[in-house]
Amino acid sequence: MRKDYSSLFGEEPTPNQPASNSRTVSKKERHFVFHPSFITLVLLTIAFIFLPDLNNSKKVTHHEEFITSAIESTQDQKATVERREVELIQGSNANAALHQLGFDTPDVLQMLAIAKKSYGLHQVIAGHKFQRINDGDTEHVYYNIDDTRRIHFQRDNKEQVWSAAVEGREAESRIRTFRGTIDDNLFASAAAAGASERTIMNMIDMFAWDVDFARDIRQGDHFTLICEEHFDDQGQLLNNTILAAEFVNQNQVHRALRYTYANGNAEYFTPAGQSMRKAYLKSPVKFSRISSTFKASRKHPVLGYTRAHRGVDYAAPTGTPIRALGDGVITYYGWKGGYGRFVSIRHNNREHTTAYGHLSRYVKGLRTGSRVKQGQIIGYVGMSGLATGPHLHFEFRVRGQAINPLSVKHRAADPIARSEMKSFKSQTQGLEHKLDQPDTTVNWG
Ligand SMILES: [Zn+2]
Repeated sequence: MRKDYSSLFGEEPTPNQPASNSRTVSKKERHFVFHPSFITLVLLTIAFIFLPDLNNSKKVTHHEEFITSAIESTQDQKATVERREVELIQGSNANAALHQLGFDTPDVLQMLAIAKKSYGLHQVIAGHKFQRINDGDTEHVYYNIDDTRRIHFQRDNKEQVWSAAVEGREAESRIRTFRGTIDDNLFASAAAAGASERTIMNMIDMFAWDVDFARDIRQGDHFTLICEEHFDDQGQLLNNTILAAEFVNQNQVHRALRYTYANGNAEYFTPAGQSMRKAYLKSPVKFSRISSTFKASRKHPVLGYTRAHRGVDYAAPTGTPIRALGDGVITYYGWKGGYGRFVSIRHNNREHTTAYGHLSRYVKGLRTGSRVKQGQIIGYVGMSGLATGPHLHFEFRVRGQAINPLSVKHRAADPIARSEMKSFKSQTQGLEHKLDQPDTTVNWG
């Protein structure tokens, strides 16, 4: 049962940046193109030093290092570079955009035909851009297919024959370390460390089987994240992969290292090679920005497990998602007396049942008999039934007997295979040493 973790966590998409100043840039450069005097050459040199910088500083506010663009003029004295770009509007198409860039119909038809071999340009998306760059010798046209790929047309100015290829947009990557200590809010401490909210959510997902982020986070808990950041040809952050992480929760150290298999799949393991995954998540409440700032009201003390109270209560705002602790089948989905809206799940080993009470609402499409996957949202926190405030009443039962869910230790999924161990060690050893480094060394945040 190997999951593709790249979609669950580790990959951080970057929001699209406004393109407001790119037009000014291309206008200025066109201006220089038509004044090939000595002064212009000087100006041009200055322009090439400053314009990409200006461009970069405006577009990229979330990282501070200047990344050299892959698209640059040659240093040749004769070189004059002309850039133009067109943003696709709704209802437009590649044909129209290429005409707008100044190409005539024979050129456009040739380009559309040649593109078919690598990427059909009928799939272009409104908001994406076509960019034309003529460096004097060669005409280049780029269309960014997505965050990681672009199609690149080329035509030698002497030959008039187009070629096209899909290529990667990634130009740079670097390793970055984030360290933070939790004062009263995990997100605030993450922001102070320079880590994005998305990165922190990824970390929370990595430790979801070991740390109950909804109940167990304390002041003084701290974390270290070693991330690989990828940038595109424009110096923009494409994604951010957590390679190694440490989370110290109430003095208990949890570590996870990313291991990438030869086939490209990646998974997180402890330094000893144990899987991070277990049959059950540590918490049924999905940690979020809202739940992290929620304080239990006095009217409904958050109850721990006792003889009288056979579950654990999670104080959380109404509407906070509740997720299935493990894979299983729903055995009850409806109103149940004092529990209000209630869900119970029988898990795959058939001995374990989890139960969730006081929901504010159900999830469309779920009913008694539905199969659910670990982590799947099964309802939302509320105060239906006998409850004085919004909270989740949660029970873990073994052969029908409620037990204290906070004390259960669950077996981990399969450890790293013996045959992979050598490769695992060589891939992760350096990362472990990085986690061990003292605080002061590599914090960019
Ligand atoms: Zn309760």
